[in-house]
Amino acid sequence: MILKKTSLTKVVKNILIDRKEPISLVHFVTNRCNARCSFCFIDFEDPKTFSHELTLNEIDNLTKNLGGSLLNVNLTGGEPFARKDLIEIAKKYLINTTIQSIYVTTNASLPERVKIFAEEITKFDDKVELTFQISIDDMPEKHNKVRKLKNLFNNCIETYRLLKKMGDNINPVVSITVTHENCDNIKEIFNYLHKDCGIDAIKCTLVRDEGVYKTPIDKKKKILQAYEWLTNEIKEKMQSKEIVNYNSNSIQGRLHQKKDILSWEMIKKMYLDPKYISPCHAGSLFGIISSKGKVYPCEILENKELGDLRKNEMNFMKIWNNQKTKDTKKYILDSKCNCTYECALSYNILGNWRYQPKLAAAALKLN
Ligand code: SF4
Ligand code: SF4
Repeated sequence: MILKKTSLTKVVKNILIDRKEPISLVHFVTNRCNARCSFCFIDFEDPKTFSHELTLNEIDNLTKNLGGSLLNVNLTGGEPFARKDLIEIAKKYLINTTIQSIYVTTNASLPERVKIFAEEITKFDDKVELTFQISIDDMPEKHNKVRKLKNLFNNCIETYRLLKKMGDNINPVVSITVTHENCDNIKEIFNYLHKDCGIDAIKCTLVRDEGVYKTPIDKKKKILQAYEWLTNEIKEKMQSKEIVNYNSNSIQGRLHQKKDILSWEMIKKMYLDPKYISPCHAGSLFGIISSKGKVYPCEILENKELGDLRKNEMNFMKIWNNQKTKDTKKYILDSKCNCTYECALSYNILGNWRYQPKLAAAALKLN
């Protein structure tokens, strides 16, 4: 792994020893969205949900204070493309931080806007790795119905195909969230996407209780069974190279692939009977910035706000080093906090010594 904007030694030391700077952030750039999914955590009924988004100027200031180890930002929402200045926001991260990659989570309802974003950003920085996570959870009609958006499924496929043609640095991937709505039809959905629509980059996540969404208890077993089937199918097809989520010729690609497999195994063990497996590094290697500029360790601990950027001169690292963050990190470790939140699990795996032998073996093609 060659880092272009920071030193590899510094980043590895931060990941495995110091754990004082974020290596990945999820930035909710807006709460606005043109869809209305039944499982969404956003409270669309509350008029305050959409107010006081960070301005571009505030984001410029915030990105100037993100430490020297940041490798990735995930621009999400709401629907991030609801912000007309999303290209400018991404450029602020590229100019002011050490990121190597940008991840954009989108409902893909606006294919042309996504395409222009990809063109502009790769023109601006031809080395940046751009991944677009396109959410598709069901067969065409049901997908449109659950998300309450006409023609959405077709727009998702169009977005995927447009991006797929755009070059090696641009990676569209379809992400299926297994929920109480689709768990009975997961095989049909996967096969339709993979065989009929020709999608060859597919990931999956497990729906979480978050915000206003709560999983119906009687559906949890079925949700887990569907998730087990889907992750096994993706794993098998990754081995036969029918599904290519990462570049298996690069060390980084093989590392990520192994990290996904380890994360699926952990989630399967924790979903029905929550249990602690290894320490979570939310609040140290990983964090969240809300659309209004509040900083959290993760999406789940909504009552553990670490600080408000607007009350801290937009200085993220000031919040990351404050007493509240130190206390929250201690709480996370002491309480053996655990959950199935995939983003945080990724940094749990990357930041723990116990997983290093398996990751190293995968990186070096020894397993
Ligand atoms: S597309 Fe995403 S943000 Fe929009 S309503 Fe659905 S889950 Fe919520
Ligand atoms: S284990 Fe889950 S809830 Fe706890 S800090 Fe990590 S991501 Fe947040």
